[in-house]
Amino acid sequence: MSGPLLQLMRRKIEAEGPIRFDEWWQTCLYHPGHGYYATRVPIGADFVTAPEISQVFGELLGLALVQCWLDQGGPRPARLAEIGPGKGTLMADAWRALAVVPDARDALAPVALVEISAALRSFQANRLRGLPVEWHDALEQVAADRPLYLIANELFDALPIRQLVHLSGHWFERRVGISGSGHLGLVLETRPSPLGQIMPDCPNGAIHEISPAREAMATAIGRRLAACGGAALLIDYGDAYEGPTGDTVQAVRGQRKVHDPFDLPGEIDLTSRVDFAPLIRAFAATGCRTAGPVPQGEFLGRLGIELRTEALARGLDEDRASDLWSRTRRLVDPNRMGRTFKVLGVAAPGQALPPGLVDETGPADQGEAEAHR
Ligand code: SAH
Repeated sequence: MSGPLLQLMRRKIEAEGPIRFDEWWQTCLYHPGHGYYATRVPIGADFVTAPEISQVFGELLGLALVQCWLDQGGPRPARLAEIGPGKGTLMADAWRALAVVPDARDALAPVALVEISAALRSFQANRLRGLPVEWHDALEQVAADRPLYLIANELFDALPIRQLVHLSGHWFERRVGISGSGHLGLVLETRPSPLGQIMPDCPNGAIHEISPAREAMATAIGRRLAACGGAALLIDYGDAYEGPTGDTVQAVRGQRKVHDPFDLPGEIDLTSRVDFAPLIRAFAATGCRTAGPVPQGEFLGRLGIELRTEALARGLDEDRASDLWSRTRRLVDPNRMGRTFKVLGVAAPGQALPPGLVDETGPADQGEAEAHR
């Protein structure tokens, strides 16, 4: 196989030596001409996300942000925003749900969509025709003139990571190089990485993933909330890990796992479990408050997903009602997406957090993260 990205990376490695894992990832997914997200609409084809499973997901998230806006005193003007809107489904459902709260749509429009993929932008433009939405390349380009109520679902898991391996008391960073047989594959740096000093007592062979890109995204969100007010709901698969994360990279093509992704740059989706711990630290450094991560099933339960499903099911025939219920179960069941996926709430310093995050009855269940998608 010799796609354009494979040739491009091969030439770069031949000229400059092995490239960093996050550079390889960034090129695979986001190369402007040939990257996975630049050339296709993968959601639904290679993987399925919560808003594509049920309209109830986007409705409840939209209403949770509106509740938070009200709890923060209903400032106006304010702005609804989403980073990485995918097919636009979540925002379409959230916007429809907002109609039940008087004045919310007026106060929160125009909606800011931050999206780097041209292919997804044009899909979103079709899907959201008639809605007051505006696109931006980065959060920094959204005018910093009003509080922001922001959603991001499965954004962080798609941002590039770096991997370190613990050997003989030192951490060595993984890179992508060319192996003896001429294929692209993982190689280890020969010198220990200074990045590994944070976690000294780990078993030999332990792997830890870090992500400056995810932390930078959290810092950008935190800074904006601290400067302008507002809140964010961030949903992703992962947890707040205490020790090393392990190797959690998932390469997927056509809803199947790919075991050797290195020959297929641009053809595969890449994600890894989100370690919420460094993101929480990044938010704290901006002065923002956080709550969670809370399992998605518990969060949606507290927001009333059962009642909403019941209300919708009442208007449907038996088959469609049972389909709707099975979709709700897929989102909340701890053995499906309900526990693997977590919700982190963020609020501007001193302001109310979004609803549904604090367990009134006891500490949130921090179950083991399971297989995703
Ligand atoms: N939220 C959607 C899509 C998830 S896929 C859903 O739940 O279905 C990840 C999305 O994030 C895609 O839309 C991708 O193009 C976008 N994305 C990735 N990196 C980004 C970045 N740095 N800034 C903005 N969007 C980004």
